[in-house]
Amino acid sequence: MYEFAVTPAVTQIRRRGVEISEVAVGSLGAELELEPGDRIMRINGRVVRDYLDFRFQTGGETEFVIDVRKHDGEDWELNIERNEAEDFGLSFEQIVPRQCANECLFCFCKGNPETARPSLFVRDEDVRLSFLYGNYTTLTSITEDEMRRVIEQRLSPQYVSVHATDLDVRAYLLGVDKKRADITAKMQRLMNAGIEIHAQVVLCPEINDGEILHRTIYDLANFHPRVRSVAIVPLGLTRYLNDPRLTPVTPEFCRRTIEEVALMQRALRKRLGTTFAFLGDEIYLRAGRDAPSRKHYGDYPQIEDGIGMVRNFANQFDALMRRLTRRSVSEARPLGRAPFGTIMTGTLFAPTESRKPGGLGFTHMVGDLVSIRSPKLGTLTNKVNHCDKIPPWTFGVSALMRNLAARGLLR
Ligand code: SF4
Repeated sequence: MYEFAVTPAVTQIRRRGVEISEVAVGSLGAELELEPGDRIMRINGRVVRDYLDFRFQTGGETEFVIDVRKHDGEDWELNIERNEAEDFGLSFEQIVPRQCANECLFCFCKGNPETARPSLFVRDEDVRLSFLYGNYTTLTSITEDEMRRVIEQRLSPQYVSVHATDLDVRAYLLGVDKKRADITAKMQRLMNAGIEIHAQVVLCPEINDGEILHRTIYDLANFHPRVRSVAIVPLGLTRYLNDPRLTPVTPEFCRRTIEEVALMQRALRKRLGTTFAFLGDEIYLRAGRDAPSRKHYGDYPQIEDGIGMVRNFANQFDALMRRLTRRSVSEARPLGRAPFGTIMTGTLFAPTESRKPGGLGFTHMVGDLVSIRSPKLGTLTNKVNHCDKIPPWTFGVSALMRNLAARGLLR
């Protein structure tokens, strides 16, 4: 049982070792009298910096000397033998993310209102979180220790924001000098050590599109299969991020990008056997185009980055509807009671499952029966019609209150 999460680093001070946050009842950790607040300092003489170190240094081993600093300051040395695969039953403190030293033109943090919750301002640049959650790093400020750790602990794959292989353009986008922007040797070292990389391009019109994008995709494709895929996601502007150096992404830009990238995808499929360079779902949605087929995405290598979510959802939804329809037929439900339901989505996604051609009619249509249920209140069912065709609403607030009181639902 290992639990950890990410919170802003602002209020946390880096302390030695890793703190135990929970000990499962009846576990090896409980037998050893470990308690929440204790810190694991070393395992077999090696320093433990965080949860990943603990996992790495205990993985596959059965005999340990564990140095513990108890929550009251006492130091313990535990000599332990455990059965293979026996779990310690420990949960650990959250990982404090390392933060970036870039000044990206398009940084999502700049797109937040000042009142947004603090975690939305965390500029994480952490190879551990890249491995654990698929967070992107730029590798511009990775330290020698971190490099060694990725290689030694096999923190693979790593997710790397490349943006452009043209050094001038990359440096401009990241707001750093060219020396820092150049990650060629770092990527090469990781790949030589067998670490796989998923790359990302945040596509900014008139900066890293067109020829620059073409070159970026082909430069990265030369490293396939070590570079497994490239996600191309559009720049996101908000009313708070309105840098005049940035050009908004328009539907026309999306259509042009789809056409340009489709030519490369065809060529890359022939050469590499994979689409390799994937456009973000948002680009298809904003262009008013259907998401590509399941085959296009292969094993959805970058679904968490918004690559293939629409296709995956649409296919799963179709499969669910087929299953429900089969079940309703086998249960001999009365005609007219075909399965139905409501999908709550963001506005960008909504038009993808149109009930009429051309993106028209993705919401309720006249004649639909719409029900809202709650275990205590019961079911409210309405038939959708135009306002001038429905009878006036006569059940007012006081009638509602009387009704609820009569049913004992008011306290
Ligand atoms: S690397 Fe990420 S967090 Fe850092 S400035 Fe760039 S976009 Fe923002």
